[in-house]
Amino acid sequence: SKVPPIILNNGVAMPQLGFGVWQVPDDEAQRAVATALEAGYRSIDTAAIYGNEEGVGRAVAASGIPRKDLFVTTKLWNADHGYDPAMRALDVSLEKLGLEYVDLYLIHWPLPSRGRFVETYQAMEKLNADGRAKAIGVSNFLPEHLRTLIAHASLIPAVNQIELHPHMQQHAAREYHAQQGITTEAWSPLGQGRGLLEVPAIIAIAQKHNRTPAQIVLRWHIQLGNVVIPKSVTPDRIRENIEVFDFSLDTEDMAAISALNEDRRLGPDPATFDVG
Ligand code: NAD
Repeated sequence: SKVPPIILNNGVAMPQLGFGVWQVPDDEAQRAVATALEAGYRSIDTAAIYGNEEGVGRAVAASGIPRKDLFVTTKLWNADHGYDPAMRALDVSLEKLGLEYVDLYLIHWPLPSRGRFVETYQAMEKLNADGRAKAIGVSNFLPEHLRTLIAHASLIPAVNQIELHPHMQQHAAREYHAQQGITTEAWSPLGQGRGLLEVPAIIAIAQKHNRTPAQIVLRWHIQLGNVVIPKSVTPDRIRENIEVFDFSLDTEDMAAISALNEDRRLGPDPATFDVG
C-alpha cells in the first residue's frame, strides 16, 4: 500500500491516511469511496449520523478488495449513548455497511452534561471483546473527558479523533494522548478547505516543493504523526490528497506551518456541544 500504518495501542494497524465522507450524500458517497479505493485509499471514515454507511458499504463490496486489507471506521451518534443503545447502534451500522465488524468504533461526542460516556464505552469494550469492533476509541474528547474515561475503563481508547489543522493545533491534547498511548486522528485536516489553503506561507512551501497547498498541509500532519482523513468528492483532489508519501518537509517548512496556530475551532466546543 502507498499509505504506511500506525500501530494502535492494541496492536491493530491503521493506515495513517484515510478518506472522510462527512456531508457526502449516500449515492455520492458510493462514487467517491469507489474513486478513493481505486486511488489507493484503504481506510474510510464514516459515522451513523452521516447517513451514508450504506453507500460506503456498497462501494466497499463492489471494490472486491479483501476485507482484511480495508480499515472501516464508524461512530456512535449522540442519541445512542448508554449501554444497551450502544450495543444496538453498532448492529444497525454493521447492517448498513454490510460488514461483520468495523475496524474502529468511536463515540462521536462526549456529551459531558449527559454523563453517559463511561457506560457507552463499557458497551464498546464488550463489542471489542466480541470481535465486532477491532479497535475502539472516542472523538471530540477533551483531556478532562479522557481522564474520567480512563479512570473507569479497562482499555485505554486506541484513538481520539479531534478537530486538528494548522489553525487549531491542539498542543495540549496531542501531548496528553502521547503520554497515554492514544493515537491522535485529525478531523478537518485541511481546515475544511476554508482559507487555510490560501495562506501565503503554505502557498510558498507548496511552490518550493512543486506540490499543492493541500498536499503540504497533509504532509505536515503526517510528519507530526497524526492520522488524517481528508474529504473530497472531486476525483482529481481525491487522488492528489493521497500522494503525500514521496516527499518531505524540512525543519523550516514544519516550523513555518506550526507558526500558523490560532487555537481557532471551525466546529463546536466539545465541552458544550449537546444535540441529537
Ligand atoms: P477537510 O479538512 O478534509 O476539508 C475538506 C474540504 O476541503 C473539501 O470539501 C474541499 O472543499 C476542500 N479540499 C479537499 N481536498 C482539496 C484539495 N486537494 N485542494 C483544494 N481543496 C480541497 O474537512 P472535513 O470534511 O470537515 O473533514 C474530513 C473528515 O473528518 C470528514 O469527512 C469526516 O470524516 C471527519 N470529521 C469528523 C468530525 C467529528 O466530529 N468526528 C467532524 C468533522 C469531520
